[in-house]
Amino acid sequence: MRCPFCQADETKVIDSRLSSEGFSVRRRRECLTCGERYTTFETAELVMPRVIKSDGSREPFNEEKLRCGIQRSLEKRPVSTEQIEEAINRIKQQARATGEREIAGSEIGEWVMDALRELDEVAYVRFASVYRSFQDVDAFRKEIDHLKNKVDKKSLR
Ligand SMILES: [Zn+2]
Repeated sequence: MRCPFCQADETKVIDSRLSSEGFSVRRRRECLTCGERYTTFETAELVMPRVIKSDGSREPFNEEKLRCGIQRSLEKRPVSTEQIEEAINRIKQQARATGEREIAGSEIGEWVMDALRELDEVAYVRFASVYRSFQDVDAFRKEIDHLKNKVDKKSLR
């Protein structure tokens, strides 16, 4: 850790404590060359796996893209921003929990569908119709029938 005042390499940690939320460590350091003191924060870096696209190319995991896709499906639906953020966090956790360095984009698509299915069925159908249309028309049709049955049963109650 270089001193931000004189760029010297040698610094000494004089105090180290966990931040209030417990996710970072705050360190007070002193430069052995110029004697200036400064504070550093350390947080664990949680690395997201890279995404393998359908054409075989790789791209970095893009949270913004994920959020856009989910928000587009949820347009004008009664789902709060907080619920959306929770869903995104869950998907990110699933991606990390694989322990893989690379995961298929289609796998993320499945997680998004799972999340949307729980949040809002209309949004789920919107997303799935776009996402699955080129992959598996039959499976999608079955899913729609399944949802229709569920809705019919609900309306009968
Ligand atoms: Zn210094």
